[in-house]
Amino acid sequence: MGWDFETDADFQAELDWIDEFVRQEVQPVDLVVANARDLNDPLRRELVPPLQEKVRERGLWACHLGPHLGGPGYGQVKLALMHEILGRSHAAPVVFGCQSPDSGNAEILARYGTDDLRKRYLEPLVAGEIMSSFSMTEPGGGSDPTQFVTRAELDGDEWVINGEKWFSSHARYASFLIVLAVTDPDAPKHRRQSMFVVPAETPGVTILRNVGVAGHEEMEGAHAYIRYEDVRVPVDHLLGERGQGFAVAQTRLGGGRVHHAMRTVGLVREAFAMMCERALSRFTKGEPLARKQLVQAMIADSWIEIEQFRLLVLRTAWRIDRYNDYDRVRADIHAVKAAMPKVLHDVAARAVQIHGSLGISNEMPFGAWVLESFQMGLADGPTEVHRTALARTLLARFEPAEGLFPSGHLPARRAAARERFAEQIERAVHGG
Ligand SMILES: Cc1cc2nc3c(=O)[nH]c(=O)nc-3n(C[C@H](O)[C@H](O)[C@H](O)COP(=O)(O)OP(=O)(O)OC[C@H]3O[C@@H](n4cnc5c(N)ncnc54)[C@H](O)[C@@H]3O)c2cc1C
Repeated sequence: MGWDFETDADFQAELDWIDEFVRQEVQPVDLVVANARDLNDPLRRELVPPLQEKVRERGLWACHLGPHLGGPGYGQVKLALMHEILGRSHAAPVVFGCQSPDSGNAEILARYGTDDLRKRYLEPLVAGEIMSSFSMTEPGGGSDPTQFVTRAELDGDEWVINGEKWFSSHARYASFLIVLAVTDPDAPKHRRQSMFVVPAETPGVTILRNVGVAGHEEMEGAHAYIRYEDVRVPVDHLLGERGQGFAVAQTRLGGGRVHHAMRTVGLVREAFAMMCERALSRFTKGEPLARKQLVQAMIADSWIEIEQFRLLVLRTAWRIDRYNDYDRVRADIHAVKAAMPKVLHDVAARAVQIHGSLGISNEMPFGAWVLESFQMGLADGPTEVHRTALARTLLARFEPAEGLFPSGHLPARRAAARERFAEQIERAVHGG
């Protein structure tokens, strides 16, 4: 099939186990549990913990974490190969203890939290006993974080937070929120904000409403519009240094985006397999759809795009492992983030088309996947921002041409080559 990407035999055995386990045990849960993050859903409480136990027994729980936090400490390439299987199921990341935003929030707490915060929040978070939320975007601005106006002011040994945050995913299930707020309004633009842990039950934290997204009408909204009104947290709830909020936020960017991308690979492979099956089974004008060249073009283009995307993601994962330096993989991560919504959109849209009316109906998952591609093009920053940031990073590696013409201009290069090979040219033309 061309899906291969060799890994060591021991880890391949784990991938085979995950593949079978997700298909047989976890994917069916997606069909009856609306949101595996909802710890209060009685059916979820019944179905998800036994699966989590099996994952723990297998030693695959919270694989993104190092051994000091109870995970196996796999590198990003192994995690990527794992996530492309988990991507087939909404519940799978929860079953494997690596769902967002908790995985990124755990990394922030592990790196910047005090011992007390780590005990209170990191340990139960990593154990899967609680959930968390990341509260950064505001109703007045998302793509440009320097526009955020939520304030945190020091009052004795407490920070007092006031403002509103928009689209804080899964806040309704969260025991704590990680909140970005302006602490130093007169500092340079990128040193004005700081990151805080806010326990969800703190007085003054109000979810104004839970906003839903198109394509998930059956689910209650998962993205909270939150008001923080005179919310008081102790000074030790500041994460990292004052004014370092953006740097702290970077902690969650690298690995998380690669995992999300690999989960997308899992999803588009499902769509691809379904479109091939349908093309072979549906007949029109005396032959299967698979014999129509325009249908074949959709199959071929989808496979090429999936494979290109997968290799880009795996190379990015490899570079993260190799360099362990966000600056060196910045361009790769922007590229992955910008490519992800497009591959999902294009493959899912072709799956709709090949399945015809059935494809667009709510009896197949493709319509929801097309809409999900639009969510992907916004969450963690819009595609436009990543494309322009990628272009800037790439352009910074080049210099403008020295003269009037570009360095690739053929007449100048030809003249230089003629000069260099003047002797040989003379011999070849005039002999001797
Ligand atoms: C499913 C989902 C989950 C999310 N979860 C969270 C969460 O848990 N926590 C959280 O804090 N936020 C979350 N967000 C919010 C997300 O981070 C923002 O949607 C994103 O940063 C964009 O901000 P915005 O929606 O305000 O769009 P705007 O900033 O208003 O941008 C709108 C559009 O303007 C254009 N644009 C913006 N900037 C540029 C630019 N520089 N160049 C060219 N064009 C540009 C783009 O087309 C962009 O889509 C989530 C969003 C989604 C969709």
